[in-house]
Amino acid sequence: MTAHVLIIGGGLAGTSLAWRLHERGVPFLVVDRDEPLTSSKVAAGLITPITGMRLVLNWRLDTLYPEARAFYQQIEKKLGHSFYHETPIVSLLLDDQAVAQWQKRHQQPEVQPYLDAQTHEPLVNADVFANPLGGFQQRGAWLDTAAFLAASQRFFESTGRWQCAEFPLPESGGPIHWNGQTYKHSVYCIGWEAAKHPWFEWLPFRSGRGTVLQVQADTGGETRIINRGCWLLPRSDGTLRVGPTYEFHFDHPNQPAPEAVAGLETKLQALLKRPYKTIGSQTGVRPIIQHRQAVIGRHPVRPDIAFMNGLGSKGVLRAPWLSRQLIEHLLDGKPIEAELDLAGNF
Ligand SMILES: Cc1cc2nc3c(=O)[nH]c(=O)nc-3n(C[C@H](O)[C@H](O)[C@H](O)COP(=O)(O)OP(=O)(O)OC[C@H]3O[C@@H](n4cnc5c(N)ncnc54)[C@H](O)[C@@H]3O)c2cc1C
Repeated sequence: MTAHVLIIGGGLAGTSLAWRLHERGVPFLVVDRDEPLTSSKVAAGLITPITGMRLVLNWRLDTLYPEARAFYQQIEKKLGHSFYHETPIVSLLLDDQAVAQWQKRHQQPEVQPYLDAQTHEPLVNADVFANPLGGFQQRGAWLDTAAFLAASQRFFESTGRWQCAEFPLPESGGPIHWNGQTYKHSVYCIGWEAAKHPWFEWLPFRSGRGTVLQVQADTGGETRIINRGCWLLPRSDGTLRVGPTYEFHFDHPNQPAPEAVAGLETKLQALLKRPYKTIGSQTGVRPIIQHRQAVIGRHPVRPDIAFMNGLGSKGVLRAPWLSRQLIEHLLDGKPIEAELDLAGNF
Protein backbone atom coordinates (compact mmCIF):
# COMPACT_ATOMS: atom_id res chain seq x y z
CA MET A 1 0.00 0.00 0.00
CA THR A 2 1.34 3.46 -0.85
CA ALA A 3 2.28 5.53 2.19
CA HIS A 4 0.61 8.91 2.64
CA VAL A 5 2.59 10.13 5.62
CA LEU A 6 6.36 10.26 5.92
CA ILE A 7 7.62 10.42 9.50
CA ILE A 8 11.19 11.64 9.79
CA GLY A 9 12.77 10.52 13.07
CA GLY A 10 11.79 7.45 15.09
CA GLY A 11 12.22 8.60 18.69
CA LEU A 12 9.30 8.80 21.13
CA ALA A 13 7.61 11.44 18.97
CA GLY A 14 7.93 9.66 15.62
CA THR A 15 7.18 6.21 17.06
CA SER A 16 4.04 7.44 18.85
CA LEU A 17 2.81 8.99 15.61
CA ALA A 18 3.52 5.73 13.81
CA TRP A 19 1.32 3.84 16.29
CA ARG A 20 -1.45 6.43 15.94
CA LEU A 21 -1.41 6.00 12.15
CA HIS A 22 -1.27 2.23 12.50
CA GLU A 23 -4.39 2.39 14.75
CA ARG A 24 -6.19 4.40 12.09
CA GLY A 25 -5.09 2.13 9.22
CA VAL A 26 -3.33 5.00 7.43
CA PRO A 27 -0.24 3.97 5.45
CA PHE A 28 2.99 5.67 6.52
CA LEU A 29 6.76 5.26 6.51
CA VAL A 30 9.20 6.10 9.32
CA VAL A 31 12.73 7.05 8.27
CA ASP A 32 15.17 7.04 11.18
CA ARG A 33 18.94 7.10 11.13
CA ASP A 34 19.21 4.45 13.85
CA GLU A 35 21.68 6.22 16.12
CA PRO A 36 22.69 4.27 19.24
CA LEU A 37 22.34 7.25 21.62
CA THR A 38 19.35 9.54 21.22
CA SER A 39 17.29 11.37 23.79
CA SER A 40 14.59 8.73 23.59
CA LYS A 41 16.99 5.80 23.87
CA VAL A 42 18.93 7.10 26.89
CA ALA A 43 15.90 8.48 28.77
CA ALA A 44 15.02 7.01 32.14
CA GLY A 45 11.42 7.04 30.98
CA LEU A 46 9.93 8.15 34.30
CA ILE A 47 6.42 9.45 34.74
CA THR A 48 6.46 11.41 38.00
CA PRO A 49 2.99 12.81 38.79
CA ILE A 50 4.06 15.31 41.50
CA THR A 51 7.21 17.00 40.33
CA GLY A 52 9.68 19.88 40.43
CA MET A 53 10.88 22.13 43.22
CA ARG A 54 7.32 23.33 43.82
CA LEU A 55 5.93 19.78 43.97
CA VAL A 56 3.20 20.53 41.44
CA LEU A 57 1.19 18.12 39.33
CA ASN A 58 2.67 17.54 35.88
CA TRP A 59 1.06 19.55 33.06
CA ARG A 60 -2.43 18.16 32.23
CA LEU A 61 -1.65 15.05 34.22
CA ASP A 62 -5.27 13.93 34.67
CA THR A 63 -5.65 13.72 30.88
CA LEU A 64 -2.17 12.66 29.80
CA TYR A 65 -1.41 9.97 32.38
CA PRO A 66 -4.40 7.68 31.68
CA GLU A 67 -3.84 8.13 27.95
CA ALA A 68 -0.14 7.23 28.24
CA ARG A 69 -0.92 4.18 30.37
CA ALA A 70 -3.55 2.88 27.93
CA PHE A 71 -1.31 3.59 24.93
CA TYR A 72 1.75 1.71 26.20
CA GLN A 73 -0.26 -1.15 27.69
CA GLN A 74 -2.11 -1.67 24.42
CA ILE A 75 1.17 -1.84 22.49
CA GLU A 76 2.62 -4.23 25.09
CA LYS A 77 -0.37 -6.48 24.54
CA LYS A 78 -0.09 -6.32 20.77
CA LEU A 79 3.66 -7.01 20.70
CA GLY A 80 3.72 -9.49 23.61
CA HIS A 81 6.45 -7.47 25.32
CA SER A 82 6.66 -5.76 28.68
CA PHE A 83 8.13 -2.25 28.82
CA TYR A 84 5.68 -0.09 30.83
CA HIS A 85 6.11 -0.53 34.60
CA GLU A 86 3.89 1.04 37.26
CA THR A 87 6.31 1.62 40.11
CA PRO A 88 5.99 3.69 43.28
CA ILE A 89 8.23 6.74 43.40
CA VAL A 90 9.53 7.73 46.82
CA SER A 91 10.07 11.49 46.83
CA LEU A 92 12.31 12.46 49.73
CA LEU A 93 12.27 16.14 50.62
CA LEU A 94 15.54 17.87 49.87
CA ASP A 95 15.47 21.01 52.01
CA ASP A 96 13.34 23.22 54.27
CA GLN A 97 11.72 24.86 51.26
CA ALA A 98 10.55 21.47 49.98
CA VAL A 99 9.21 20.62 53.45
CA ALA A 100 7.23 23.89 53.50
CA GLN A 101 5.90 23.23 49.99
CA TRP A 102 4.80 19.74 50.91
CA GLN A 103 3.06 20.97 54.05
CA LYS A 104 0.93 23.18 51.78
CA ARG A 105 0.42 20.57 49.07
CA HIS A 106 -0.17 17.28 50.74
CA GLN A 107 -3.79 17.86 51.65
CA GLN A 108 -4.84 19.47 48.37
CA PRO A 109 -7.56 17.37 46.71
CA GLU A 110 -5.86 17.27 43.28
CA VAL A 111 -2.76 15.46 44.58
CA GLN A 112 -4.68 12.76 46.49
CA PRO A 113 -5.23 10.38 43.53
CA TYR A 114 -1.47 10.28 42.96
CA LEU A 115 -0.42 9.55 46.54
CA ASP A 116 0.33 5.90 47.16
CA ALA A 117 -2.00 4.40 49.75
CA GLN A 118 0.48 1.55 50.33
CA THR A 119 2.99 3.88 52.02
CA HIS A 120 4.50 2.64 55.28
CA GLU A 121 6.87 4.23 57.79
CA PRO A 122 9.79 4.34 57.62
CA LEU A 123 9.56 5.41 54.02
CA VAL A 124 13.01 4.06 53.16
CA ASN A 125 15.62 1.83 54.77
CA ALA A 126 17.64 4.24 56.91
CA ASP A 127 20.76 2.08 56.53
CA VAL A 128 20.67 2.60 52.77
CA PHE A 129 19.19 6.04 52.08
CA ALA A 130 19.66 9.41 53.78
CA ASN A 131 16.26 10.82 54.62
CA PRO A 132 16.58 13.62 57.19
CA LEU A 133 13.40 15.48 56.20
CA GLY A 134 10.84 12.81 55.29
CA GLY A 135 8.84 12.62 52.12
CA PHE A 136 6.00 10.83 50.39
CA GLN A 137 5.32 7.99 48.01
CA GLN A 138 3.55 8.64 44.73
CA ARG A 139 2.02 6.44 42.05
CA GLY A 140 4.54 6.71 39.23
CA ALA A 141 5.61 4.61 36.30
CA TRP A 142 8.52 4.19 33.96
CA LEU A 143 8.79 3.15 30.37
CA ASP A 144 11.80 1.14 29.26
CA THR A 145 12.13 3.48 26.29
CA ALA A 146 14.93 1.51 24.58
CA ALA A 147 12.85 -1.69 24.75
CA PHE A 148 9.68 0.10 23.59
CA LEU A 149 11.46 1.71 20.64
CA ALA A 150 13.27 -1.48 19.63
CA ALA A 151 10.09 -3.58 19.75
CA SER A 152 8.14 -0.93 17.81
CA GLN A 153 10.89 -0.65 15.20
CA ARG A 154 10.97 -4.45 14.72
CA PHE A 155 7.19 -4.53 14.30
CA PHE A 156 7.11 -1.70 11.76
CA GLU A 157 10.11 -3.10 9.87
CA SER A 158 8.26 -6.40 9.54
CA THR A 159 5.33 -4.55 7.95
CA GLY A 160 7.54 -2.45 5.65
CA ARG A 161 6.75 0.76 7.54
CA TRP A 162 10.23 1.57 8.92
CA GLN A 163 13.45 2.32 7.15
CA CYS A 164 16.87 2.98 8.68
CA ALA A 165 18.38 5.84 6.71
CA GLU A 166 19.52 9.43 7.00
CA PHE A 167 16.81 11.63 5.51
CA PRO A 168 18.48 14.56 3.73
CA LEU A 169 16.45 17.47 5.06
CA PRO A 170 15.50 19.68 2.12
CA GLU A 171 16.44 23.34 2.52
CA SER A 172 13.97 24.80 0.06
CA GLY A 173 10.41 24.46 -1.25
CA GLY A 174 8.73 21.82 -3.38
CA PRO A 175 6.97 18.57 -2.49
CA ILE A 176 8.67 16.03 -0.21
CA HIS A 177 10.01 13.00 -2.07
CA TRP A 178 11.58 9.85 -0.69
CA ASN A 179 12.57 6.74 -2.64
CA GLY A 180 10.70 7.94 -5.71
CA GLN A 181 7.48 8.66 -3.87
CA THR A 182 5.84 12.02 -3.14
CA TYR A 183 4.21 12.45 0.29
CA LYS A 184 1.06 14.36 1.11
CA HIS A 185 2.29 14.97 4.64
CA SER A 186 5.75 14.77 6.11
CA VAL A 187 6.14 15.03 9.88
CA TYR A 188 9.48 16.14 11.29
CA CYS A 189 10.23 14.43 14.59
CA ILE A 190 13.96 15.04 14.59
CA GLY A 191 14.43 16.12 18.18
CA TRP A 192 16.91 18.82 19.20
CA GLU A 193 18.56 18.92 15.77
CA ALA A 194 15.53 20.75 14.37
CA ALA A 195 17.16 23.89 15.82
CA LYS A 196 19.79 23.63 13.07
CA HIS A 197 17.32 23.49 10.20
CA PRO A 198 16.25 26.71 8.42
CA TRP A 199 12.56 25.68 8.60
CA PHE A 200 12.59 25.47 12.37
CA GLU A 201 15.57 27.48 13.61
CA TRP A 202 13.30 30.45 14.46
CA LEU A 203 11.80 28.46 17.32
CA PRO A 204 13.23 29.34 20.76
CA PHE A 205 15.02 26.03 21.31
CA ARG A 206 16.93 25.64 24.57
CA SER A 207 17.69 21.95 24.48
CA GLY A 208 19.39 20.30 27.43
CA ARG A 209 22.04 17.62 27.30
CA GLY A 210 21.54 14.98 29.97
CA THR A 211 23.40 11.99 31.34
CA VAL A 212 22.22 8.88 33.14
CA LEU A 213 24.73 6.74 35.04
CA GLN A 214 24.59 3.00 35.41
CA VAL A 215 25.62 2.02 38.90
CA GLN A 216 26.17 -1.11 40.98
CA ALA A 217 25.22 -0.86 44.64
CA ASP A 218 23.57 -2.95 47.33
CA THR A 219 20.30 -1.13 48.07
CA GLY A 220 18.89 -3.94 50.19
CA GLY A 221 16.56 -5.17 47.47
CA GLU A 222 14.85 -1.79 46.91
CA THR A 223 12.53 -1.98 43.87
CA ARG A 224 10.93 1.48 44.01
CA ILE A 225 12.25 4.62 42.33
CA ILE A 226 13.92 6.81 44.96
CA ASN A 227 14.27 10.54 44.42
CA ARG A 228 16.16 13.11 46.47
CA GLY A 229 18.24 15.57 44.44
CA CYS A 230 18.61 12.84 41.85
CA TRP A 231 16.61 9.68 41.12
CA LEU A 232 17.61 6.03 41.37
CA LEU A 233 15.83 3.55 39.13
CA PRO A 234 16.40 -0.12 40.04
CA ARG A 235 16.69 -2.39 36.98
CA SER A 236 15.84 -6.08 36.76
CA ASP A 237 19.54 -6.97 36.27
CA GLY A 238 20.33 -5.62 39.75
CA THR A 239 21.96 -2.39 38.54
CA LEU A 240 20.59 1.10 39.07
CA ARG A 241 20.14 3.98 36.65
CA VAL A 242 20.92 7.29 38.29
CA GLY A 243 20.23 10.73 36.86
CA PRO A 244 19.96 13.15 35.45
CA THR A 245 22.22 16.07 34.59
CA TYR A 246 21.15 19.22 32.74
CA GLU A 247 23.61 21.10 30.52
CA PHE A 248 22.40 23.93 28.30
CA HIS A 249 25.73 24.74 26.62
CA PHE A 250 27.43 21.84 24.90
CA ASP A 251 29.44 20.86 21.83
CA HIS A 252 29.09 17.11 21.66
CA PRO A 253 25.58 15.65 22.10
CA ASN A 254 26.72 12.33 23.59
CA GLN A 255 29.69 13.27 25.81
CA PRO A 256 28.91 14.93 29.14
CA ALA A 257 31.12 17.54 30.76
CA PRO A 258 33.09 15.90 33.61
CA GLU A 259 31.79 18.52 36.05
CA ALA A 260 28.20 17.60 35.21
CA VAL A 261 28.86 13.96 36.04
CA ALA A 262 30.75 14.94 39.20
CA GLY A 263 27.74 17.04 40.28
CA LEU A 264 25.42 14.07 39.79
CA GLU A 265 27.74 11.80 41.78
CA THR A 266 27.75 14.33 44.62
CA LYS A 267 23.94 14.14 44.74
CA LEU A 268 24.08 10.36 44.65
CA GLN A 269 26.52 10.30 47.56
CA ALA A 270 24.19 12.58 49.55
CA LEU A 271 21.34 10.08 49.02
CA LEU A 272 22.95 6.65 49.04
CA LYS A 273 24.74 5.63 52.23
CA ARG A 274 26.20 2.45 50.72
CA PRO A 275 29.29 2.21 48.47
CA TYR A 276 28.61 2.10 44.74
CA LYS A 277 30.49 1.56 41.52
CA THR A 278 29.74 3.44 38.30
CA ILE A 279 29.83 0.95 35.45
CA GLY A 280 28.56 3.04 32.56
CA SER A 281 26.81 6.18 31.40
CA GLN A 282 24.64 7.36 28.54
CA THR A 283 24.15 10.90 27.29
CA GLY A 284 21.63 12.50 24.95
CA VAL A 285 19.94 15.84 24.29
CA ARG A 286 16.37 16.56 25.37
CA PRO A 287 14.57 18.72 22.80
CA ILE A 288 13.30 21.75 24.73
CA ILE A 289 11.45 24.75 23.28
CA GLN A 290 11.34 27.63 25.73
CA HIS A 291 8.01 28.58 27.33
CA ARG A 292 6.25 25.63 25.65
CA GLN A 293 5.21 22.24 26.98
CA ALA A 294 5.62 20.92 23.41
CA VAL A 295 5.02 22.11 19.85
CA ILE A 296 2.97 20.31 17.19
CA GLY A 297 1.25 21.35 13.98
CA ARG A 298 1.89 22.48 10.45
CA HIS A 299 4.64 24.78 9.33
CA PRO A 300 3.22 28.32 8.90
CA VAL A 301 4.61 28.64 5.35
CA ARG A 302 4.70 24.97 4.27
CA PRO A 303 1.42 23.35 5.43
CA ASP A 304 2.47 19.97 3.93
CA ILE A 305 5.22 19.89 6.55
CA ALA A 306 4.18 18.99 10.09
CA PHE A 307 6.19 18.91 13.29
CA MET A 308 6.23 17.31 16.72
CA ASN A 309 8.96 18.44 19.06
CA GLY A 310 9.87 20.11 22.34
CA LEU A 311 8.85 17.14 24.52
CA GLY A 312 11.49 18.25 27.03
CA SER A 313 12.03 15.86 29.91
CA LYS A 314 8.44 14.56 29.78
CA GLY A 315 8.33 12.74 26.45
CA VAL A 316 6.96 9.48 27.85
CA LEU A 317 3.96 11.16 29.44
CA ARG A 318 3.27 13.60 26.63
CA ALA A 319 3.96 11.77 23.36
CA PRO A 320 0.82 9.55 23.35
CA TRP A 321 -1.61 12.45 23.78
CA LEU A 322 0.27 14.89 21.55
CA SER A 323 0.60 12.34 18.75
CA ARG A 324 -3.16 11.81 18.78
CA GLN A 325 -3.77 15.57 18.66
CA LEU A 326 -1.47 15.94 15.66
CA ILE A 327 -2.93 12.99 13.74
CA GLU A 328 -6.49 14.23 14.38
CA HIS A 329 -5.39 17.58 13.00
CA LEU A 330 -3.74 16.16 9.88
CA LEU A 331 -6.42 13.60 9.08
CA ASP A 332 -9.62 15.13 10.45
CA GLY A 333 -8.85 18.85 10.46
CA LYS A 334 -9.23 19.15 14.25
CA PRO A 335 -7.74 22.48 15.35
CA ILE A 336 -4.54 22.51 17.39
CA GLU A 337 -4.63 24.48 20.61
CA ALA A 338 -2.88 27.83 20.23
CA GLU A 339 -0.40 27.14 23.05
CA LEU A 340 0.90 24.05 21.21
CA ASP A 341 0.61 25.19 17.61
CA LEU A 342 3.72 25.54 15.43
CA ALA A 343 1.79 28.08 13.38
CA GLY A 344 0.89 30.06 16.53
CA ASN A 345 2.63 33.05 18.05
CA PHE A 346 6.22 32.69 19.20
C1 LIG B 1 19.31 11.97 30.23
C2 LIG B 1 17.88 12.04 29.83
C3 LIG B 1 16.91 11.59 30.71
C4 LIG B 1 15.57 11.64 30.37
N1 LIG B 1 14.64 11.17 31.24
C5 LIG B 1 13.34 11.21 30.92
C6 LIG B 1 12.36 10.68 31.79
O1 LIG B 1 12.67 10.16 32.86
N2 LIG B 1 11.05 10.75 31.41
C7 LIG B 1 10.67 11.30 30.22
O2 LIG B 1 9.48 11.33 29.93
N3 LIG B 1 11.58 11.83 29.38
C8 LIG B 1 12.90 11.79 29.69
N4 LIG B 1 13.82 12.31 28.85
C9 LIG B 1 13.34 13.11 27.71
C10 LIG B 1 12.83 12.30 26.57
O3 LIG B 1 13.84 11.44 26.23
C11 LIG B 1 12.45 13.24 25.41
O4 LIG B 1 11.31 13.96 25.76
C12 LIG B 1 12.15 12.44 24.14
O5 LIG B 1 13.09 11.44 23.95
C13 LIG B 1 12.13 13.29 22.90
O6 LIG B 1 11.80 12.45 21.82
P1 LIG B 1 11.90 12.93 20.31
O7 LIG B 1 11.38 11.82 19.49
O8 LIG B 1 11.29 14.28 20.14
O9 LIG B 1 13.48 13.15 20.04
P2 LIG B 1 14.67 12.11 19.82
O10 LIG B 1 14.64 11.03 20.79
O11 LIG B 1 15.91 12.95 19.74
O12 LIG B 1 14.39 11.47 18.40
C14 LIG B 1 14.75 12.07 17.18
C15 LIG B 1 15.04 10.97 16.19
O13 LIG B 1 15.21 11.53 14.89
C16 LIG B 1 16.34 10.94 14.28
N5 LIG B 1 16.81 11.86 13.23
C17 LIG B 1 17.21 13.16 13.39
N6 LIG B 1 17.52 13.69 12.20
C18 LIG B 1 17.30 12.72 11.26
C19 LIG B 1 17.43 12.67 9.82
N7 LIG B 1 17.85 13.72 9.12
N8 LIG B 1 17.13 11.51 9.20
C20 LIG B 1 16.71 10.41 9.90
N9 LIG B 1 16.56 10.41 11.25
C21 LIG B 1 16.84 11.56 11.92
C22 LIG B 1 17.31 10.72 15.44
O14 LIG B 1 18.30 9.76 15.11
C23 LIG B 1 16.35 10.23 16.52
O15 LIG B 1 16.13 8.83 16.44
C24 LIG B 1 15.18 12.22 29.12
C25 LIG B 1 16.15 12.64 28.24
C26 LIG B 1 17.49 12.55 28.56
C27 LIG B 1 18.52 13.00 27.57
